[in-house]
Amino acid sequence: MVALSRRHRAERHSVGWTMALAALPDMVHTLPVAAWALDRGAPADWLAYATALPGGEPAFPAAVALWSHHLHCSFHSALVAAGVTALLWVALRRFWLPLLGWWSHILIDVFTHSADFYPSPVFYPVTYWGFDGVAWNTPWFTTLNYAALLGLGWWLWVTRQKDRASGTAG
Ligand SMILES: [Zn+2]
Repeated sequence: MVALSRRHRAERHSVGWTMALAALPDMVHTLPVAAWALDRGAPADWLAYATALPGGEPAFPAAVALWSHHLHCSFHSALVAAGVTALLWVALRRFWLPLLGWWSHILIDVFTHSADFYPSPVFYPVTYWGFDGVAWNTPWFTTLNYAALLGLGWWLWVTRQKDRASGTAG
């Protein structure tokens, strides 16, 4: 029992790290902008940056632009991720599973950005080249995306109900 609950806790811990790492690449690069926006008492500028379309970003100081640019590129680069993965592999002597969260973000972004919608710099710092995929905000793609999420949610709900009815939910 104790071993089981300890394993459960470890698994929950890993899930938390995986989810955090999956979200991190789109958070980190907004931090310099957030600091600048808060410093000048205009938090709306951060929101304008976070929701901007290409070319519509608010104008901010060169240092802020530089930091957020390179943070964005670093966290979306398969080369940087490979380096971090290798270092952790050596340090821990095993693949650290939560890194899959980060890797999934990089992979998904490659195909859900296009040449004219923030192409994902997957080979930064070697090149800024990005695959010309389907931008995630393309209406039909967004519709399909949310429909799939709703479908998945519905399926999870239905299967949970069935499990509960048969008394196997734990
Ligand atoms: Zn991203």
